Amino acid sequence: MSITTNLKQIQLAIPENVTLVAVSKTKPNEAILEAYQTGQRIFGENKVQELTDKFESLPKDIEWHMIGHLQSNKVKYIAPFVSLIHGVDSFKLLKEINKRAAQNNRTINCLLQIHIAEEETKFGFDSTEVTELIESEKFKGLQNVNVIGLMGMATFTDNEAQIKKEFSSLQTLFTKLKNQHPKLNTLSMGMSGDYQLAIECGSTMIRVGSSIFGNRN
Ligand SMILES: *Cc1c(COP(=O)(O)O)cnc(C)c1O
Repeated sequence: MSITTNLKQIQLAIPENVTLVAVSKTKPNEAILEAYQTGQRIFGENKVQELTDKFESLPKDIEWHMIGHLQSNKVKYIAPFVSLIHGVDSFKLLKEINKRAAQNNRTINCLLQIHIAEEETKFGFDSTEVTELIESEKFKGLQNVNVIGLMGMATFTDNEAQIKKEFSSLQTLFTKLKNQHPKLNTLSMGMSGDYQLAIECGSTMIRVGSSIFGNRN
């Protein structure tokens, strides 16, 4: 099926309060432009160089989300334009984003990544760490970052019960933090294979790549 058909189907199938991030990593500009023609404006990339190249060559009303693991030394390249950074997994990184945002006279929206998967390889805070961080003075002192929610990735498995358990635990944490900090309004969870389940578990932002653009090589 075409990108246009795939995208329209997903847009129709998801509730209005759920934001769709079209994950365009590894895909050429032509594919992104086809999605853009359908009205899609939010795109996600996971590599700094690719994100920067695409920002420079594509329409300026695209909102670019950094969804991958971000190294502190690369924040400066995306700080001038990025609209949301999903995978903030350390205070050190948040501090660097704050510094580079200030240099660009902007405030950068961020999500704190929570480790929900069983796999060792996934980055992120655990629930105690993130609760402590949000309450801390050092966190409140950061003027140029706006932490608007949480992000998580489930274990890569066919076991639906396990995925559901992981998404539910993230939702519980999100709801708890949101009660104390109403500014938190975004829960980024769900990809091509599991976004329906994620929405059932309270996701407000899904990151979908292959179901829109086809498989990546
Ligand atoms: C690649 C990627 C996605 C999209 O994955 P699909 O399975 O192609 O939908 C979502 N989130 C992150 C963090 C990714 O790196």
